Amino acid sequence: IEIIRRTDPEIADAIEKEIDRQRNKIELIASENFVSPAVMEAMGSPLTNKYAEGYPGKRYYGGCEFVDIVEDLAIKRLKELFGGSHGNVQPHSGAQANMTVYFALLKPGDTIMGMNLSHGGHLTHGSKANFSGKIYNVVSYGIGKDTGYIDYNEVERLAMCHKPKLIVAGASAYPRIIDFKRFREIADSVNAYLMVDMAHIAGLVAAGLHPNPVEYADVVTTTTHKTLRGPRGGAILCKEAYAKAIDKTVFPGVQGGPLMHVIAAKAVCFKEALSEEFKEYQRQIVKNAKALAQGLLNRKLNLVSGGTDNHLLLLDLRNTGVTGKELEKRLDDIGITTNKNAIPFDPLGANITSGIRLGTAAVTTRGMKEQDMDEIADIICNVLKDADYIDKAKTRVKALIDKYPLYE
Ligand code: PLP
Repeated sequence: IEIIRRTDPEIADAIEKEIDRQRNKIELIASENFVSPAVMEAMGSPLTNKYAEGYPGKRYYGGCEFVDIVEDLAIKRLKELFGGSHGNVQPHSGAQANMTVYFALLKPGDTIMGMNLSHGGHLTHGSKANFSGKIYNVVSYGIGKDTGYIDYNEVERLAMCHKPKLIVAGASAYPRIIDFKRFREIADSVNAYLMVDMAHIAGLVAAGLHPNPVEYADVVTTTTHKTLRGPRGGAILCKEAYAKAIDKTVFPGVQGGPLMHVIAAKAVCFKEALSEEFKEYQRQIVKNAKALAQGLLNRKLNLVSGGTDNHLLLLDLRNTGVTGKELEKRLDDIGITTNKNAIPFDPLGANITSGIRLGTAAVTTRGMKEQDMDEIADIICNVLKDADYIDKAKTRVKALIDKYPLYE
């Protein structure tokens, strides 16, 4: 970052510190990852200079012949990766992809059903604090209290009772396989659209490790920066019948010019995701999540639903006397980054919480394996039991970090 330093030393300092933080801490935030140098180079390319309102071949600006190649390739690869007859790679974020689908298919005041935020859903699935909860009439479904799994019978009962126009499946903190087929049947029984937000699990879906929602949903949205390991951004896949409505809602409906440098980075990410190496990476993410879960269970800790099928797990701290907020702070102090997360029916609410969400996508990118997950589980357990277990924990974290260097 020497060039930035010459122009703007304050920003260069902050960037350098952030790179150091990423290198020197164990990243367990389930929605984060480390992109490849190729993805990063695309994001830092002069494509950021180009205005390209519209779509390939139908732009409102001249000089789009090369960014058209980029966007066409991104769309082609997105469809190759997941299937689906139509793709849109322009959404600036996951939230904007979801906004697009609602605006394309619904009218204000229509009823939607989404997963309760406090049970693992996303803000855009109907939270009162979000546009989705302000514009639409929201009915939330959730997790069975005794199982930790989505209560599909309850989803069905609510759908029958409220007749939603659209049902959202997908989550930000759900550790189990989602039964998209069941969601489709429920949606069909009440004549509702089915939208799947696969943001968290997109990498697993691409690798065939989670059922593919494209086979069941009318529209699928995703982010590109979580398990998929691409740039921050969103994408949409849909049936041909909704293609026009989706495209014109992204632009000019909710966005202006697309971020062509980010779309180039998405294309690079999709190419990487089509490789055998990426499939192996995703398999290791799941193995690592299972190993981390087992390591915690072996040390008498509880997990929501008792384990994980995907890249994340939710530690239930109710039997420990330590809150999610407190454990997040203790772990941060020793070099492990996590986020406190409400567990379903959390007695402590969203600010304090009785849970911590842990994900293995980023540590797996660094090269960590199952035995490292057991080591991390042991460190977490010690820090949980003893607030003064700091120096030893820091030494153990440093040993792991040094073994798996990042961005050398
Ligand atoms: N959908 C899900 C399931 C998510 O977990 C997230 C982000 O955490 C989003 C959508 C929103 O993505 P973004 O932060 O890019 O708006």
